[in-house]
Amino acid sequence: MQLDLDGQETGQAEMSIAGPLQLGLGEGRPDKAEITGALVVQNVESRFMVTGTLRATGQAECGRCLQAFEIKWDVPVALMVLRDAHSEEEDGVLLVLHQRQGVVDLEESLRECAVLAYPQSPVCAESCQGFCASCGKDLNKESCECAKDDYDPRWDGLPD
Ligand SMILES: [Zn+2]
Ligand SMILES: [Zn+2]
Repeated sequence: MQLDLDGQETGQAEMSIAGPLQLGLGEGRPDKAEITGALVVQNVESRFMVTGTLRATGQAECGRCLQAFEIKWDVPVALMVLRDAHSEEEDGVLLVLHQRQGVVDLEESLRECAVLAYPQSPVCAESCQGFCASCGKDLNKESCECAKDDYDPRWDGLPD
């Protein structure tokens, strides 16, 4: 996940990304992710643009049933390495790094992109039933009587 500013030819090139990333997102969310894909590197004049969408895979906890599951999410990357302080920044760029020469380690930037793109409240499956709010049963495994609808017996017997 390194970009060699001096060794990169002018123009456009593809850069393969594959490896583990430490995310440290906190409880119930992936500690680390495997990130894969390819980024397009554009080396123009005094700057590098690195763009593309990577795929991250990690272990998360379902927001409904609390089971661990494998989560995959897309990680859009749009970062710019400015090699001289006078270059203009552009819209739509997530991250801007300033480095004149040498090798740029992209790991921290990719980590930021992966954290930014992480879904708000992931679930193991759209159809996951989670737990009953009243009795606490795991509705993926068993059904219960309390959650039929919002029927309220107090309305019984009231005239229309
Ligand atoms: Zn679930
Ligand atoms: Zn219930």
